[in-house]
Amino acid sequence: MPSFPDFKVPEAGQTTQITEGVYWLRMPLPFDLNHINLYMLEDTDGWYIVDTGLGGKTTQKHWQTVFDSTLNDKPVKGIILTHMHPDHIGQAGNLNEKWRAPIYISRGEYFGARSLSGPSNGASRWSDEVYYRQAGVDEASISKALEAESGFGDFVSPFPRSYRRLKQGSTLTINGSEWRVLVGSGHSPEHVCLFNETLNLFISGDQILPQITPNISVYSTEPEGNPLDDYLSTLPQFFDLPEDVLTLPAHNLPFLGLHKRVKYMQDHHAEKLHRLMQASQTAKNAVELLPAIFKRKLNGSQLMFALGECIAHVNYLIAAGDIERTLKEGCYYYQATREAPADEDTDMEPQLIQPV
Ligand SMILES: [Zn+2]
Repeated sequence: MPSFPDFKVPEAGQTTQITEGVYWLRMPLPFDLNHINLYMLEDTDGWYIVDTGLGGKTTQKHWQTVFDSTLNDKPVKGIILTHMHPDHIGQAGNLNEKWRAPIYISRGEYFGARSLSGPSNGASRWSDEVYYRQAGVDEASISKALEAESGFGDFVSPFPRSYRRLKQGSTLTINGSEWRVLVGSGHSPEHVCLFNETLNLFISGDQILPQITPNISVYSTEPEGNPLDDYLSTLPQFFDLPEDVLTLPAHNLPFLGLHKRVKYMQDHHAEKLHRLMQASQTAKNAVELLPAIFKRKLNGSQLMFALGECIAHVNYLIAAGDIERTLKEGCYYYQATREAPADEDTDMEPQLIQPV
């Protein structure tokens, strides 16, 4: 397990100093995961904010409390966004308007956020319907899922019309020290993490979390996608950061033990892949495969969420040649192309899950 240095967990609207010029704050989320961590970086002539919380009045009010107490008469000069998920970019538009400060984000995340922020263009949802049917979801649940909208716009303030691009190796010099961008993928298209060698700090966003694993899912938008390959192939770069770096994640607590955590992520997915190989010795559809990787009982929305994860893992196995997929009456059935070793023989070494 990673270890957690003894910082005071900030209440909403409060900040906790991590080191000189680096502050941690939290905003509430109305979900099982009830908070997001945000960071503020103080420059000589202003502040950078890293991620923003959900849109809406509650978070906006907490931001005002932070501004009233923290800024030392300096403006916000930049808003850095790790990735496009609503808890990260929800207030980006409001903050961008309030401060006329640019957002810094990767190109993939920027255009993803812009497209989800836009109104529906009138295209039908037949591809969603097919996605669910191919996964083995029953017709009543499909109808229900098709009635629901994504809700993205409800959680995100109007997204800015321009941005500053961050990409692998980009640097931002803040208060005399350099933050270097490392891009991960899989959880989202082009997720920005930031490493500061001088301060020995690493802002990991959702790419690496200490107590939960980031969601890696295939959705109906790209049903043949292989995001698990993207995730696993961008993970090893984090072994190049110092083992004693303090990681500042977007959820849970700041932690030490980055390398162990990266290894855990590799093992975690290797284990899921292994269980799916065992479960698919006889052909099963995605819904039937779920118990192999989710032990708890899943309700409606959790079921859809879990399906995305399950399909991400089977798509990875298909690309590796370990599973074959057959379409029968509109539903995909997955069958392993080789025997899966028994549990006690499971080789959990990372090379098992290196991309093919
Ligand atoms: Zn996320």
